[in-house]
Amino acid sequence: MGAGTTGGSSTAAVVTTVGAVVVAAAVLVTSLAVDRAADAVAPAVPGPPPDARAEPLRLPPDVVDPGGYTFVDTGPGGQPVRWDPCRPVHVVVRPDGEPQGGRAALGAALEEVGEAAGLVFVVDGETDERPDPARRLVDPRRYGERWSPVLVAWSDAGEDPRLAEAAGLAGPAGYGEGSRRRWVSGSVVLDAPWFAENLPAELGRRRAEAVLVHELAHLVGLGHSSDPFSLMSPTYQSVYDLGTADRAGLARLGDGPCEGDAGRRDGDAGT
Ligand SMILES: [Zn+2]
Repeated sequence: MGAGTTGGSSTAAVVTTVGAVVVAAAVLVTSLAVDRAADAVAPAVPGPPPDARAEPLRLPPDVVDPGGYTFVDTGPGGQPVRWDPCRPVHVVVRPDGEPQGGRAALGAALEEVGEAAGLVFVVDGETDERPDPARRLVDPRRYGERWSPVLVAWSDAGEDPRLAEAAGLAGPAGYGEGSRRRWVSGSVVLDAPWFAENLPAELGRRRAEAVLVHELAHLVGLGHSSDPFSLMSPTYQSVYDLGTADRAGLARLGDGPCEGDAGRRDGDAGT
C-alpha cells in the first residue's frame, strides 16, 4: 500500500514494476510482469533536489534508429515515459548476500546504461530496505523529502519467489498522468545465488553483466524486444551486448525535457 502523508497533502501515484529474467540452462528467458499497486500513495511531491540542473546532466549519444524497441510505458503521442535527465538517478544498494564482484559488475552496468541513455546514476550507499512491489515513492523517515532512490536489492528466492526462475527483476516507478508522467524511482531485485555462481567464470560473468544491463535498461524505461538478437528480447541466447535497436531505445529515453516539480502537484490521481 505504501500509504503516507506529510504536510497535510497526499497525492496518489502509480507504481509500476516490470521485467524478469528467467534462466534455464544456457538460455536466458525473460518475461514481462507488470504489477500495478493502485493504492500506492506518495506524500506531497518533493521539490527539486539540490543536484537538479536546468540542463541535462549528459546527453544520449547520436545513434542510428532502426526501430524495433519498446518502452515500459508511453504517454500521449507515443513518447516514452522518461526520467528527468536534469537530475541524477540516485541508487541505494541492499547488500545482503552480495556476491564477490557483484558491486563492481553493478557499477559497470550502471555506467554502460547511463551512457547509452544519457542519464547519470549516483550510488548513494547501502540500505537495509527490503524490496516491496508497493514501495513508497517518497519515504521521508528513511530517505528524507525526496523521491525514494532506486533500490537495488541482492536477494534470493526465499525472499522473492519470482527469483526461483529469474536472475533479476526490475522496473521503474512512475508518477503523474498523461504527458506529465515520468519515472521517479524504481527497483532492481537480483538473485544473489545465481550471480555468485556465474560471476567467477568468464562466460558466466558476461552472462551476469548482460542480465544487469537488461534489468537496468528496464529501469530506465526500455521494454522487451521481439528481436531474438536483442539484449531486450524476452528470450535471448548468447547475446551479451546492447544491440543497435536497444541503444536507439535508450537514447530516446534520455532525450526528454527537464521536468522540474513546480506546478506538478495537481492532476496526478492514480488509477
Ligand atoms: Zn526483461
